[in-house]
Amino acid sequence: MTGLSGLKMDANIVVLGTDNVGKSALTVRFLTRRFIGEYGDIETIYSHSVSVDGRELSLNIWDSPYSPQDITSGGSAAMCEKRLQWADGFVLVYSICDRASFNMVARLVQSIKAAKGDFLGQEKMPIAIVGNKRDLHHRRTVMAEEGRLLALASDCQFYEVSAAENYHGVLMVFHGLVGHVRESRRRSAAVKKAGIKGIVKSMSAVFARRRTDSL
Ligand code: GDP
Ligand code: MG
Repeated sequence: MTGLSGLKMDANIVVLGTDNVGKSALTVRFLTRRFIGEYGDIETIYSHSVSVDGRELSLNIWDSPYSPQDITSGGSAAMCEKRLQWADGFVLVYSICDRASFNMVARLVQSIKAAKGDFLGQEKMPIAIVGNKRDLHHRRTVMAEEGRLLALASDCQFYEVSAAENYHGVLMVFHGLVGHVRESRRRSAAVKKAGIKGIVKSMSAVFARRRTDSL
């Protein structure tokens, strides 16, 4: 038994991105391993039991057809609040053939970071940036490097996948995110336990070490 046994073992994931980038395809691929081709516009929260690194956990995935413009422009504030409050992690999807969808993901990262904040003792929100439709490389307008750079600059994970052609890549997205959600929970539990005194102490230790390093 570890001290983690008391932590809640479910994770809420919100899938966001502009229309037609493959949010539903990605979600359904993960849940059923299948690609259907056409998906309605039904807003759904799926619940799914997964085993990641040998541990069971219940995953709730919110696939929402609503325009993410709401989130970045501050419109429909109550709706956005709800998503942000609910989420333990985000999957932000764009299509590698759709430049505007990539720009939207960049804006979404900023708004999520602004809303959730990276304060002392507050864990950052786990975010996976996903370039979908990798199979359509002949129509590519967003280079993989651009996605990778955005992720690097904003401390997110990055993947390029094809929901249409490959299950494994999609699986990696969700498993990777779950791993990060767990890690960030573990850290914030540790921070809470140590209390602010502990943070200050360990920070001064780091600074002290830096000073000796530079001598
Ligand atoms: P959403 O609006 O973001 O939920 O997008 P959908 O999941 O409904 O997908 C939009 C369209 O893109 C559908 O026609 C899908 O069949 C197609 N699509 C989704 N993922 C892929 C992919 O990886 N490759 C290709 N070629 N088409 C895809
Ligand atoms: Mg959809």
